[in-house]
Amino acid sequence: MSSTVTYMLGWGDHYERGSSGPFLGPVGLDFAALSAEYRRERYAEANIAMKDHCWLSEEDFCSWLLQKGILTPVESTHVELDIRTSGDEAFVPLHWPECPQCSRGRGEQEYGMLRRSLNRITAFRRCTECRHEWGHVDEPNDSKRPMIEDDGRDTTGGCVPFAISKACGVEWNTVKAICARYGWTENGMNTPHNAALAIRELGYDLVAVDVPRNGLSKPTLKQVATQLSTARSYIIGIRGHWLAVVNGRIIDNDNNSGMTSRVVELYEVRKQQAVAA
Ligand SMILES: [Zn+2]
Repeated sequence: MSSTVTYMLGWGDHYERGSSGPFLGPVGLDFAALSAEYRRERYAEANIAMKDHCWLSEEDFCSWLLQKGILTPVESTHVELDIRTSGDEAFVPLHWPECPQCSRGRGEQEYGMLRRSLNRITAFRRCTECRHEWGHVDEPNDSKRPMIEDDGRDTTGGCVPFAISKACGVEWNTVKAICARYGWTENGMNTPHNAALAIRELGYDLVAVDVPRNGLSKPTLKQVATQLSTARSYIIGIRGHWLAVVNGRIIDNDNNSGMTSRVVELYEVRKQQAVAA
């Protein structure tokens, strides 16, 4: 009893492939021998018919194999597979929290605004169905370092309130609110007049100090900073930018002025004296 196997026949090269099947046939057919037999038969037929040419092809060889009963065709069905994993079929982990808005979807972890200098990034959940966002919370961007409290260092146009906050030792949000009343926006602030008014409201005075000359040119930030009293607080103006020097230490926002920047304004920030009644 010889056992049967399914054959898929293929031919051609990478660029022009041909195939036929599936067919049933006995195990271990010798296709080299069968093709030789096919060729002999077709040549003999062509000679009898006195033809000048005899074209052989793999398709014709397949027909010959079927005609001879060496192979028999098998019923087959072609099916295209497509496993969908998007839209309604997307994997939505059950451990994600349910959406408080639509209660159909679940919240995927997303990350929003990165404030690199404060090492803070906003994490939140976004609903897979209605896109509702909730649960916003700041996390350390670099988990090995702590988050830094928002002291205004990365606020756009915020160098004046930032310098005032550091020089007066008053918390950023308080200073920002007062400066906003005196015209501060993200485009900056009118200095020194409006800044001086804001500082006065905080209980300090902005006192202009002569910028120490360095020959004919204006001195650098480094030259000025090293000459200042380490017991006092100052605000230094360089071109279009303010920064603070507190107890001898330069405190700049994210602008990070170079130490060779030329100083054009210098102020001491003094606590107001109680006025005698
Ligand atoms: Zn939702």
